[in-house]
Amino acid sequence: MISISKVVLKAKDIQGVVSVLKSGHLVQGPKVHELEKKFARLCRVKYAVAVSNGTAALHTALYACGINPGDEVITTPFTFVATANSILMVGARPVFVDIEEKTFNIDASKIEKAINRKTKAILVVNLFGQPADYNAINKIAKKHKLFVIEDAAQSIGSIYKNKESGNLANVSCFSLYATKNVTSGEGGMLTMNDKKIYERAKLFRQHGEREGMKYSYHGLGFNYRLTDILAAIGLVQIEKIISISKKRQTIAKKYEKTLSNIPSLILPTRANDRTHVYHQFTLRVKSGSKPSRDELQKYLKKQGIQSNIYYPKPLYAFNHISDAINKNTNSAEFPITEKLSKEVLSIPVHQHLTNKEVNYIISTIKNAYI
Ligand SMILES: *Cc1c(COP(=O)(O)O)cnc(C)c1O
Repeated sequence: MISISKVVLKAKDIQGVVSVLKSGHLVQGPKVHELEKKFARLCRVKYAVAVSNGTAALHTALYACGINPGDEVITTPFTFVATANSILMVGARPVFVDIEEKTFNIDASKIEKAINRKTKAILVVNLFGQPADYNAINKIAKKHKLFVIEDAAQSIGSIYKNKESGNLANVSCFSLYATKNVTSGEGGMLTMNDKKIYERAKLFRQHGEREGMKYSYHGLGFNYRLTDILAAIGLVQIEKIISISKKRQTIAKKYEKTLSNIPSLILPTRANDRTHVYHQFTLRVKSGSKPSRDELQKYLKKQGIQSNIYYPKPLYAFNHISDAINKNTNSAEFPITEKLSKEVLSIPVHQHLTNKEVNYIISTIKNAYI
């Protein structure tokens, strides 16, 4: 089976982990600090704060921006559930705005209509590895005095108008989960230039404790520390960021070249002013096609190729979210999200695919449509 993601750890990862085990410094130690420095440098920002996972990073970012119960946070309904859950975790309400058909990202032109007195932040997702339109989003945020938070879980290494993902908003959140482009197994990172957000994020990571001041608490916090065991893996993996992105981009280009003439398919597009790091390569199978999206997925599975639907259901359609926002969302307000969630199919694009596997995926999809 050619799987949609693959984790490959080598001798260097193992050495890194073993060195931590031998050192006895297992948590919040030198490897974690080193990883923070690497991220700050990669994103060209002043500060980075490591946490235990990407969801923790989002929760911490919202707290650090001072988002409180009763506040509203504008976001996309077409994303992984952690994006909206983190808003619920601080007691705020997610307010969904429809997406752009071309980039799968939040449609900046529809944000202003969703702003009211309670709005405090815009939580933007760079879905599948392509940044959203931050110039437009930051301009709206500035006008209405809102925070912008970047959910960069899928976009590490991407660039928008000469600026790195991780440096496009007031604070940015990464995930180092096993299947992300850069992994530490589990892990998360916040990056920012704002010192106040930095200080608050560090407090929140560890029970509101100031560094070097044990048992003195400055507000609510969690235990969101990252272990050095995992940071050691992250350090080895992040060194490969350029080649990981390049490999994914090369495979994407090959898919574009070979699959774009199939009338049933719409291939992902990239805006001119940004790069795409293809956390996912997401096809759209037009409705009414033969085979349909679901039939294509079944066919690929039978031929030994895993594909996945990211995401099958808009977030407003889940009960825990509609209950929390006290509203049954009218799906007619989200025509693009509704349409795309029925069309999308992500096919393998990870950096460990061989040429032979890529060619096999291409010929299999072609065969499905002749
Ligand atoms: C993976 C992911 C997260 C959550 O990260 P975890 O490390 O799994 O907690 C959040 N948002 C998006 C868009 C993601 O893809």
